[in-house]
Amino acid sequence: MAARTAQHWRGELGYDEPMARHTSWRAGGAARRFYKPADLADLCTFLHDLDPAEPLLWVGLGSNLLVRDGGFPGTVIFTFGALTALDWLDDNTLRVEAGASCARVARETTRRGLIGMEFLAGIPGTMGGALAMNAGAFGGETWPRVTAVETVDRHGRLLLRKAAEFQVGYRSVAGVPGEWFVAAHLRLERGAAAAAQQRIRELLDRRGATQPTQQYSCGSVFRNPPGDYAARLIETAGLKGTRLGGAQVSEKHANFIVNTGNASAADIETLLLQVQAEVARVHGVYLETEVRIVGEAVADAGRHEYE
Ligand SMILES: Cc1cc2nc3c(=O)[nH]c(=O)nc-3n(C[C@H](O)[C@H](O)[C@H](O)COP(=O)(O)OP(=O)(O)OC[C@H]3O[C@@H](n4cnc5c(N)ncnc54)[C@H](O)[C@@H]3O)c2cc1C
Repeated sequence: MAARTAQHWRGELGYDEPMARHTSWRAGGAARRFYKPADLADLCTFLHDLDPAEPLLWVGLGSNLLVRDGGFPGTVIFTFGALTALDWLDDNTLRVEAGASCARVARETTRRGLIGMEFLAGIPGTMGGALAMNAGAFGGETWPRVTAVETVDRHGRLLLRKAAEFQVGYRSVAGVPGEWFVAAHLRLERGAAAAAQQRIRELLDRRGATQPTQQYSCGSVFRNPPGDYAARLIETAGLKGTRLGGAQVSEKHANFIVNTGNASAADIETLLLQVQAEVARVHGVYLETEVRIVGEAVADAGRHEYE
């Protein structure tokens, strides 16, 4: 155990936790240690007590994350279901902790007649993940509504930072290294609740019609290159439906790789690399990954033929 002092944190600490249980690809290796804090104060205590050399991986709903089959050699901080507080700082400003789901934020805000976060309804992640990724959909993005964020450093110190302290781009956020998001302050506009709820239903219907929402995936694997769509490039390179082990380029949306049941992380990563190489060969465009890939590979995994 890496705790430096007598244990006085209150959360749940596990060992060798299979990350396939906590990622939407349902694939990958184990985390050496896995901590689900009891609440924010408890998280600070845990971090304060932690060996400063311990590698950390923050995980919300794991909906944009591939943990390689050899696992993560450090501690996962799991926020979903742990940092869940949602409070109103004033009539229009929501404070929401990092482990609250995006769907809940969309639901709670529209219910109060506040608009602007409807796009979050179909994003199967947490607020922390949405901040880290600048998650967005159908023209909406996370950061335009953020006025401030609360962060924690690895000594367990809490900080309040203005949104302007972060460089925010398309699915990218650069902030202060060594700090992680524990809450967001979102300022929202008044609008019609019924229209916003209707918009949520429409956006969910559009997702169901165009994305393989019933299969294990991580959403879009690649960022869209400027002026184009990764899905179009992958489809026109003839890659839709391509399989490697248990991983497959979705027949429904070419920028999704789905786990058909028994994919290893190596199957998924190898297929991803093959798609990237083939699109570069056919179209001369290098697709950058949107998904985050972490952890250690297993030496002999993923030796499949490209079907
Ligand atoms: C079916 C499907 C559809 C999707 N559609 C969309 C979409 O329309 N738009 C979109 O943007 N994304 C989409 N995604 C991807 C994903 O849902 C988003 O990127 C989401 O924001 C990730 O949130 P998470 O909590 O699951 O993050 P995780 O996957 O747990 O983590 C993602 C990254 O954020 C980091 N992170 C997590 N929490 C914190 C924190 N508190 N502080 C600092 N870093 C943190 C992690 O370390 C990791 O690097 C989709 C995924 C799926 C499976």
